[in-house]
Amino acid sequence: MIFLPPALDKDEIPILFHEPYVLTGFRPLHYPWTSYLLSIFQWHNELLNIWTHLLALIMVLIRASVWSTEFSLLSDPFMWPLSVGIITMIILYICSSGAHCLQNRSEVVHYTCFMCDYAGIGLYGFGSTMLHYWYCLHEDLLGSFSHQFAIPVGAVLAVIVCICCTISKTKYKRPYPFIRRVWQMSSVFAIYVWLIFPIWYRIWMYYHDGKWSSSFKNHIQQMLWFTVGGFFFGSDVPQRFCPGLFDIIGHSHQIFHMCIFMTTYEQMNALYLELTDDTVIIHKMEEPTLFNTWGMLAMVIVANIFVVYYFHCSVNNRLEQEKEQNLDVKNNKHMTENGGSCLHQENIQKSLVSKCKDKTQ
Ligand SMILES: [Zn+2]
Repeated sequence: MIFLPPALDKDEIPILFHEPYVLTGFRPLHYPWTSYLLSIFQWHNELLNIWTHLLALIMVLIRASVWSTEFSLLSDPFMWPLSVGIITMIILYICSSGAHCLQNRSEVVHYTCFMCDYAGIGLYGFGSTMLHYWYCLHEDLLGSFSHQFAIPVGAVLAVIVCICCTISKTKYKRPYPFIRRVWQMSSVFAIYVWLIFPIWYRIWMYYHDGKWSSSFKNHIQQMLWFTVGGFFFGSDVPQRFCPGLFDIIGHSHQIFHMCIFMTTYEQMNALYLELTDDTVIIHKMEEPTLFNTWGMLAMVIVANIFVVYYFHCSVNNRLEQEKEQNLDVKNNKHMTENGGSCLHQENIQKSLVSKCKDKTQ
């Protein structure tokens, strides 16, 4: 087993790997892949980022296995949107914990890992769109514009999330400007508004038709968790008040991960109540088809893989070019230094010769 050497301080690693207000706990670069995998058992500043989403993954897997005994997840077409939603949650947590686990290996791995993370976020947005428009829809919205275009719009927004977040990562360099957060959060906000609309509408309609559903409590909680998560994601609180104190435990990204964990937890609780309390109106809809469930999922996955591959290649080329340019600059500097010392020696020789000439005269 090859473990990593002890974690490093901020000034011992390249600026790309820096995090605002984090001073210690950085894993060294260029060790074998297995070292980074095994680093989930070592102390460093990514440890809780990895574990928070590994635990979320375990929670989703346990839930999915319990649901598979209660619902016909694969044989009943009306359960296909549920299966697709669960798969997007699983992919989200695999991509996220994998990205935080492996990102320190090299610069190109760092960029590519987070591109996969963004692809997972977009995909989860798509999966939640499918879950909410199939199982949480108000009767009024049946056949409406938002209902008819829910899945295609969700699919396009999922790819846009992946593209925008990836551009925000590759376009700007650390220390990142605030505009980078705007790139990231605006695309995520757009898909969130789309996917949460059926739930907003139902809660809004409660004030008119008085139809309370037992799932509302969990839906409201999932929205609150997501909002709190968004605050921690964008604010760098609490580490901005005490740089270095929250490097290993209590960092805002770890709190953000916990909030996303709780969002999916409450989302699953709400869905379970929708399905078991028979409040869903899915049976009034046309039967889900292979194309508008599994087919659309496959299309979003393929599109996001293409986006990640495209940006991976362009980042790889840019890093290679930067490496060559740095090498040229170093060589030129070396040559100038050597050239300079030759000239210096030549000048010394010339002055010695002239001094000897003066003496002989
Ligand atoms: Zn993360």
